[in-house]
Amino acid sequence: MSNRRDFLKKSSLLGLVGLTSNLISNNQLNAIESLGNQAQTNDAFTLTKLPYSYGALEPYFDKQTMEIHYTKHHQGYVDKLNALKSTNIDYASTDEIKCTHIDKSTAVAVRNNLGGHFNHTLFWTLLKPNPLGIANKPIGKLNNAINANFKTFDEFKIEFSDKALKLFGSGWCWLIVNDKGVLKIVTTPNQDNPLMQLGDERGKLILGLDVWEHAYYLKHQNKRKDYIEAWWNIINWDGCEELFSK
Ligand code: MN
Repeated sequence: MSNRRDFLKKSSLLGLVGLTSNLISNNQLNAIESLGNQAQTNDAFTLTKLPYSYGALEPYFDKQTMEIHYTKHHQGYVDKLNALKSTNIDYASTDEIKCTHIDKSTAVAVRNNLGGHFNHTLFWTLLKPNPLGIANKPIGKLNNAINANFKTFDEFKIEFSDKALKLFGSGWCWLIVNDKGVLKIVTTPNQDNPLMQLGDERGKLILGLDVWEHAYYLKHQNKRKDYIEAWWNIINWDGCEELFSK
């Protein structure tokens, strides 16, 4: 097993070399789908490949933060999940389905580390390089839905940023489609997400922002507002549109 894990880690690192931003639209959801495939064939969780290099999101997300976030924080959730092998995890289902089964009775270590692994895997796919600083806005059906629900993209942006900024402590801010088909901006503490049977608002995930300090402290220190502002430039709206249309 350890040989296999070493091989997978090396493969992941090799995959970071030479990928360019034009591959993202093809690869954006493969990472998530591969989690499901992996779960069906292998009981060990592995870190999924980033679709860009650590420095590719500069100047918005810095290289050092990306490397530590991915190789230490995300890897940490994966390692802890694998250490929980005796716990009752249904390995036959996708990680998305595993998340929907989490409720208040779930072991805290499973909830935190499965959430951490799933949330980060999604987060990486919903980022894309924007080295030229081109205006970055939602597209297609999602763009129409955002305008219908929030009047304008700018109003949506203000509301999302405000909720992300005001979330106390560590957690995530999300755009979801709830069970009535309505777009909602919700926050969850720690590594919870709105797929889990925990909060008042549950639904399909369209967009997520990690507001743990580990995501921004090196570059932005305590200024979460600056980190949120930077993030709007590198959202992968093609990936959000795909999730929304699914
Ligand atoms: Mn994180």
